[in-house]
Amino acid sequence: MPYRLDDTAADLRERLYFPEVIRGVGILMKQFLRNFFFGREKNPDMLARDRSLSQNATLQYPEERVPYPPGYRGLHRLVPREDGRPRCVACYMCATICPAQCIYIEAGELPDDPIEKYPTKFVIDELRCVVCGFCVEACPKDAIRMDSGEHAPPSYTRAAQIWDEKRLLRGPPVSYQYDPWLRRGASSIPAEKLAEMKANAKPFSTVATDEYAQTPGFSVKNLAAEAKARGETLARK
Ligand code: SF4
Ligand code: SF4
Repeated sequence: MPYRLDDTAADLRERLYFPEVIRGVGILMKQFLRNFFFGREKNPDMLARDRSLSQNATLQYPEERVPYPPGYRGLHRLVPREDGRPRCVACYMCATICPAQCIYIEAGELPDDPIEKYPTKFVIDELRCVVCGFCVEACPKDAIRMDSGEHAPPSYTRAAQIWDEKRLLRGPPVSYQYDPWLRRGASSIPAEKLAEMKANAKPFSTVATDEYAQTPGFSVKNLAAEAKARGETLARK
């Protein structure tokens, strides 16, 4: 139904203007005092906080911070191996798929490995990034993740938003049993360290995605299997 303008003529009180100003200030004060002393917050997590005077649940940022939920795509990090090197093998898949073209990589050869490469330069412009997560999905080595739980910090200069490999390489290391550097070994990794890395290695995931980015209870594989089963049931009818 179309909205109709109330075009009735203003009465004397409205034309005097001043009483309406007082009425407006009164409404404003009423709302202010109600919000100040009697909160209307419905969220039980917010209400659980100590609010002595009212139930207002304004977050006292930055002293008070709510952790981001699992699956939040935060600042990138380059996942380290157990020996501190990046897992990245400089394959350029993340840079190729990035719709914002904000990843720049230069590849170098490892002196103790005849096959693997590593990124001598790995730069992400976090200002241009559209936080789509494609780079994480595309990476065949689980070498780049967005599970830092942090958003890009504010800065006074654009240059501060350019994150290079030194800033990006952080967080807990990850090893998979089929990592080539574990199977072949490398002269830079001492034998005991190699044995430790092998012991800590996880079975290689079939899809190199970030497990922390998965929504609990949601599985594309399970849904696809259900859809397939439904299709087969229909075909038999
Ligand atoms: S999240 Fe998307 S836009 Fe950002 S770097 Fe990765 S692929 Fe590029
Ligand atoms: S896709 Fe992964 S392994 Fe390849 S360059 Fe990007 S981060 Fe490195």
